[in-house]
Amino acid sequence: MSVPEATSRAVAVRFSKVSRHFGEVRAVDQVDLDIYDGEFFSMLGPSGSGKTTCLRLIAGFEQPTSGSIQLYSQEMVGVPPFLRDVNTVFQDYALFPHMTIGDNIGYGLMVKGVAKGERDKRVKEMLELVQLPNIEKRKPSQLSGGQRQRVALARALINHPRVLLLDEPLGALDLKLRQQMQIELKQIQHRVGITFIFVTHDQEEALTMSDRIAVFNKGKIEQIGNPSQIYERPETPFVAGFVGISNMITAEAANRLFGKAGLYAVRPEKIHLAAPDTPVPADSYSADGTIDEVIYLGINTRYLVNLDVGGELTVVEQNLKVTSMDAQAQHGRRVRLIWQKDLTRELHEV
Ligand code: ATP
Repeated sequence: MSVPEATSRAVAVRFSKVSRHFGEVRAVDQVDLDIYDGEFFSMLGPSGSGKTTCLRLIAGFEQPTSGSIQLYSQEMVGVPPFLRDVNTVFQDYALFPHMTIGDNIGYGLMVKGVAKGERDKRVKEMLELVQLPNIEKRKPSQLSGGQRQRVALARALINHPRVLLLDEPLGALDLKLRQQMQIELKQIQHRVGITFIFVTHDQEEALTMSDRIAVFNKGKIEQIGNPSQIYERPETPFVAGFVGISNMITAEAANRLFGKAGLYAVRPEKIHLAAPDTPVPADSYSADGTIDEVIYLGINTRYLVNLDVGGELTVVEQNLKVTSMDAQAQHGRRVRLIWQKDLTRELHEV
């Protein structure tokens, strides 16, 4: 696992050897983690990898089996959720259907005994923050999914928690709206400056929004880094396969291509598709093969190439001057794949 970059920022959340077991299941297994104040931090991983359990441990809905959890240097183990300076936004919004939007957003302030005038003012500010002005009087059923999610965000932010936990909050939205909300969410986080901890299984979402990402697998963190570190410099086979297209060169092929054993990854857009006799520059590796499949995707084309040394690599090329007919005509063609040596990552199992 990589060490996060050195930073002078305060640590908002610290996990030290945190485990949460459910019977035989190690949902979270000996996790060490620092999340810094003001970060947009994502927990990324497949279903069942332990992300939500980590979020629930921070919120206080779960207690660890062992280990320590600190929020701004204060030990949280044993502290109930309502005494933690965090708030959660859930995928299903969890709005009260019978209440107006204004009352939903102001609910936390009402419970705290904040006077109505002040409450109304802050509800208004929050609705402006999430770009839904003047909808205080409406009911949740009169809003679209995207609008409801913004209301849920406004409700979670009105108390100015130090840490906002977001559990797949965009999961119920269609792709276009989700992409739009990803950008908005990041802008809102910039404006409010609160630490956001975002759980998702969608790698593109994590890459788009995060300052840093922790990639989870089977209750453990395999790698922590900023989006380009995670994408460009995956350290383990799991990270290389889960984030982006899996493009591995395994033992025997590696031996023949690079003259050394091991497991290697190279991203598909780094590979140049060239004619079979193209000379290979000294700073590059090459592999000869045959195009086995062509997938035309409009903006680019994905070529699956069977390598002569065994195995397969995917190459993605932009369709700068290529039509779908040109792309399909490549099927069965002999090619030489060429890519820079320094873009080849050696992987290690954790
Ligand atoms: P998803 O994206 O599907 O929510 P996740 O990565 O968030 O997955 P968790 O919900 O944290 O994963 O679950 C991790 C593991 O712990 C899973 O095997 C899950 O079945 C198990 N688990 C979680 N909560 C409980 C519970 N209350 N009782 C028993 N097992 C649980």
